[in-house]
Amino acid sequence: MATHKLLLLPGDGIGTEVMAEVKRILAWLEKAGVASFAVEEDLVGGAAYDSCGLAISEEAMKRAFAADAILLGAVGGPKWANVPYESRPEAGLLRLRKDLELFANLRPALCYPALAGASSLKPELVEGLDMLIVRELTGGVYFGEPKLIQDLADGQKRGIDTQVYESYEIERIARVAFELARTRRNKVVSAEKHNVMKTGVLWKQVVSEVHGAEYEDVVLEHQLADSCAMQLVRAPKQFDVIVTDNLFGDILSDVAAMLTGSLGMLPSASLGAVEEISGRRRALYEPVHGAAPDIAGKGVANPIAMIGSLAMALRYSFGLAEAADRIEAAIAGTLAAGFRTGDIASPGTTVVGTSGMGDAVIAQLEKAA
Ligand code: NAD
Repeated sequence: MATHKLLLLPGDGIGTEVMAEVKRILAWLEKAGVASFAVEEDLVGGAAYDSCGLAISEEAMKRAFAADAILLGAVGGPKWANVPYESRPEAGLLRLRKDLELFANLRPALCYPALAGASSLKPELVEGLDMLIVRELTGGVYFGEPKLIQDLADGQKRGIDTQVYESYEIERIARVAFELARTRRNKVVSAEKHNVMKTGVLWKQVVSEVHGAEYEDVVLEHQLADSCAMQLVRAPKQFDVIVTDNLFGDILSDVAAMLTGSLGMLPSASLGAVEEISGRRRALYEPVHGAAPDIAGKGVANPIAMIGSLAMALRYSFGLAEAADRIEAAIAGTLAAGFRTGDIASPGTTVVGTSGMGDAVIAQLEKAA
């Protein structure tokens, strides 16, 4: 059995609490003979700052480069509000994303049947929803130059952001989307604004070319990003994979997130290029939520987003799709059995803490085994 190198970076606040449940599940997977892991652990964020004055140490960065996948809890909190800007907790996460060149952000929106009632949409619209937004993360209008506010001669000001994409950036994100679609329901919707934006024209053209040359077996549909937003709240179950740029992806992924209920339920992945020598793809998995200082240390945080991030790592970095399915089924079973952390509790359910939720997921894994 291959041994997978995993780096755990629990971070701050509830990051350490939800990561503790992931460690228990890793131990269970090993004991059950499902997989073998070489696990290392290091500090990031405020915890790293307290230890070495940096948001992430050089040693931790080395470990990040050597790992097959990184699992990160969350960073930040009021304790570090006044540390120097370049050492603030978020700088550790940004450095990881930048140095590892993680250009593809994957945000699944999965609606567990037992939580369909928690969505802002009608339950029948979201029950069984299983879609994935692939957002370009390192280009587009958030990074394009020029980016400035100018003083004009007449006393007015002019703000400028530049939306810019080169074809290689579109090609590589399109490939990620098509590859992922092949492991799912084989459909990609590409969202842009070719009716009013040159980058949209290029985006549509390049995605079509990549599709025609390499992925004709995948169904490709183009949608204008505004129409895609409308379809997301009208009939979200029509989507399998959506691929889109940094700006539209920022917005569409938050819309998709709210279809499924709580922040505590949402995992994510950020993927980089496939390394030439090792053939592995750099990858960092983390819950969408932050360090939640308001509930940190109370043992009440929902660990499902973190456990779901582990499932994503098994599926996308380690080729262990069956183990990922087992974990997701165990989460669904836990919810169907009525267990809830405070953030997703409703009348008639059993409220448990972080470790209680971990216990329930492991009990479901045991039951299925
Ligand atoms: P947050 O996601 O930490 O919390 C928002 C709200 O959701 C809070 O009320 C919190 O209690 C609740 N919540 C979040 N995750 C939960 C979970 N697993 N279970 C139950 N409830 C949960 O966002 P915030 O309050 O805006 O930020 C807090 C700190 O986290 C800040 O320092 C921020 O910079 C940082 N942050 C980090 C990341 C990251 O590490 N990727 C992301 C967002 C925010």
